[in-house]
Amino acid sequence: MQFIDLKSQYAALKTSIDARIQRVLDHGQYIMGPEVRELEEALQAYTGARHCITVASGTEALLISLLALDLKPGDEVITTPFTFAATAEMIVLLGGWPVFVDIEPDTCNIDASLIEAAITPRTRAIMPVSLYGQVADMEAINAVASRHGLSVIEDAAQSFGATYQGRRSCNLSTFGCTSFFPSKPLGCYGDGGAVFTNDDELAQACRELRVHGQSARYTHTRVGVGGRMDTLQCAVVLAKLERFEWELQQRLAIGARYHELLAAVPGVQRLAVRPDRNCVWGQYTVLVPDRARVQAALQDAGIPTAVHYPKPLHRQPAYRGFAPARNLPHSETAAERVLSLPMSADLSTTDQDRVLVALRRALAA
Ligand SMILES: *Cc1c(COP(=O)(O)O)cnc(C)c1O
Repeated sequence: MQFIDLKSQYAALKTSIDARIQRVLDHGQYIMGPEVRELEEALQAYTGARHCITVASGTEALLISLLALDLKPGDEVITTPFTFAATAEMIVLLGGWPVFVDIEPDTCNIDASLIEAAITPRTRAIMPVSLYGQVADMEAINAVASRHGLSVIEDAAQSFGATYQGRRSCNLSTFGCTSFFPSKPLGCYGDGGAVFTNDDELAQACRELRVHGQSARYTHTRVGVGGRMDTLQCAVVLAKLERFEWELQQRLAIGARYHELLAAVPGVQRLAVRPDRNCVWGQYTVLVPDRARVQAALQDAGIPTAVHYPKPLHRQPAYRGFAPARNLPHSETAAERVLSLPMSADLSTTDQDRVLVALRRALAA
């Protein structure tokens, strides 16, 4: 069994993917070819966002958003410590200060009720993460942001396709940033990502920042980056969009089945999904006691698992200096207990049952 089954997906889409790749090889416009704009238009239509700017990766999407906001050294960005490093990394890389606030113990997303108390005169933005594929309390976050004149950047690397109050992830705040890393809900065959916004000026800034700050050829209006997404990778995502809606329904159904059957497994704490949104299960993650032992037992049974993430960022060597004075107990507990189970649109019921049997056995031991 694979943790994420990308081979079945390729087998199902082989004709389209191969044809799409061949078309790029034939026209030869490897950088900013026609597939780039075609994908951006398809993703704008899908999310409902006015602008989509494809970029080199999810990390680059976060960087370009922060550059578009003109983040200055010393500026603070309120975020969660329970995420992949890229979230805080781009803030720190620009000389900003990540202000970590704790998560909700039942969703593992940032606790929106703690944000206002963390705002200072230096705060510029709030960066919630839609962890595991579920959007955080964006309504509350946007309300705090608008009271204080802050921007909101959704790190939607794990949540492309998720809905929140009837709207799509990536179209819920100043910026939505997603990733097309192969294992994400919508992936390419390498690195890729996108920034979404409804603000015309910020969108123009992102378009320029992605090509070394050029507003016209060799007119460098801003200090930018080489942050384009390859035409070939855009072609792959375009082909994958053909089956995306089916995959999303599969993910929701497989997640619901895990949820239902795990209710009867003693020791497992399932994540809560709020009623006004869904979770596309970028990872299907549960909380278990004695994780190292459970993970080893699953490995012995041939079940691959992963830990997202074993340490909150304020405990990582590179980010320790940003640890807040107050403890972040829910982030600490989650980091000790989370375990991600095999999940992909092509996970069979048979394999899912094997996971459940092995997990039940591991927890009973
Ligand atoms: C994957 C991920 C990123 C980074 O995306 P890349 O495309 O790998 O650069 C950022 N934030 C979160 C939460 C992620 O899961």
